[in-house]
Amino acid sequence: MRIPGVIASLLLLALAGCAAPVPGMGGAAQRFAELRDSPPMLRAFLARMPKGGDLHSHLSGAAYAEGLLSQGAAAGLCVDPTTTTASPPPCRPGQRPLAAALGDPALHRALVDGWSMRSFVASAGRSGHDQFFDAFARFGAAVDNAAAAAEVVDRAGRQRMRYLELMVTFQGGAARRLGASIPWQGDPAAFRARLMQAGIARLVPAARAERAALDQAMRAALRCGTPEARPGCDVDVRWLAQASRTNPPGQVAAQALLSALLQQADDRVVGLALVAPEDHPVALADYTRQMHLLADIHDAVPGTNIALHAGELVLGLVPPEALRSHIAEAVRLGRAARIGHGVAVMAEDDAFALLREMARRRIAVEINLSSNDVILGVRGRDHPLPVYLAAGVPVVLTTDDEGVSRIDRTNELQRAVQEHGLDWPTLLMLERFTLEYAFLPGASLWADARTAQRVPACAGADPQAAPPAACAALLAASPKAALQWALERDLAAFDAEAPTLRY
Ligand SMILES: [Zn+2]
Repeated sequence: MRIPGVIASLLLLALAGCAAPVPGMGGAAQRFAELRDSPPMLRAFLARMPKGGDLHSHLSGAAYAEGLLSQGAAAGLCVDPTTTTASPPPCRPGQRPLAAALGDPALHRALVDGWSMRSFVASAGRSGHDQFFDAFARFGAAVDNAAAAAEVVDRAGRQRMRYLELMVTFQGGAARRLGASIPWQGDPAAFRARLMQAGIARLVPAARAERAALDQAMRAALRCGTPEARPGCDVDVRWLAQASRTNPPGQVAAQALLSALLQQADDRVVGLALVAPEDHPVALADYTRQMHLLADIHDAVPGTNIALHAGELVLGLVPPEALRSHIAEAVRLGRAARIGHGVAVMAEDDAFALLREMARRRIAVEINLSSNDVILGVRGRDHPLPVYLAAGVPVVLTTDDEGVSRIDRTNELQRAVQEHGLDWPTLLMLERFTLEYAFLPGASLWADARTAQRVPACAGADPQAAPPAACAALLAASPKAALQWALERDLAAFDAEAPTLRY
């Protein structure tokens, strides 16, 4: 996907169909070309680059171990120094107060290593996959959602991101208990009716309250609305409600239905996601059944947005048969509007038709380069990112679990440039895609986001000036278009700033 920058620039200008310069294709494009071959220079440049958003980020996995440790210590938790697993007080024999780690560098080091991929080296019987997913169980008791969100959202703001969709589970225990109380008999629609009769809708107000309290506590921690407001205050944060794919079908159905009902009731919750390791025995055995469950819920609850982890697999982790159809089923049965990971796409039956279908139906794939590297061992030329790009499938660069992976989103953009040769026009396009394929409501600014061709109301308008009336009306009515316009304004300003990024 190496389009020479000058040609791509001219192409974009021609396609934009107007004399107005395309934001990001002036001084920024020139400076990128000058420094792209120096990783340290590229890091500083990409950190300053205005960005769209992150569409694939699990709240607890995005928090760094250091923050979790402080939160757990403040909450009086205990820890088993051998397993590094945190648990509520009182501390049992052999455990220590988590707070002891703050004054014991060796314990602190062991906990940060145990709760992340830091210092991890795979050895016989111990894979990166296991270390990654086991970390969640070790630090789980220490997660304070509001503190974690403040950390993650502020990091996004400092990287000049405009938008975040954070995955979190709301009223997960209550939904599971309700689902477990009804016998599963194999018919998704009948089970959904039983859930409704059993009062699942009564969990929605509690879930809304949980979400609202989380937002409020996060914004208080960021000091939003005060003179000391942190950069995270400028990020539009929305939530994806999670359902776990490793539970029995009735519990998966209950969590997914509650997520859909919550999205319908709360404009800050914009979709639902099925999460947990795709290679888990239950997830593998129930995969197709879960797709039918989601289809039923999607079709019964108007407006449900679904993002599905699919193809987060590699040959050897699972038998070849498990690689044949997960992405295709997510797209064709599960009503997925976005695919998380999609690493195993070329191992699917009729992969080429699947790629064509995803491109035609504009089903985006969320690419997590570092996560795929440490969990699956898929990196560099083995990663299908260039295949997706060449096939015309919409791609967004996302992080998955930046705390566990010890990365940030800037790092993922950098990896895409260094490992896959992404050029500046492609990077710009992918940033625009992060807002285009967001589950944010409202009409798009773009007639075609690929070519930065705007809808007629805003065509040719200077994003650094007041928009014309018809464009202003669109921006006022559409949260999506308003953020897209703000990104264009940022990118136009970056054209002026980028040439000054030098020593
Ligand atoms: Zn994920």
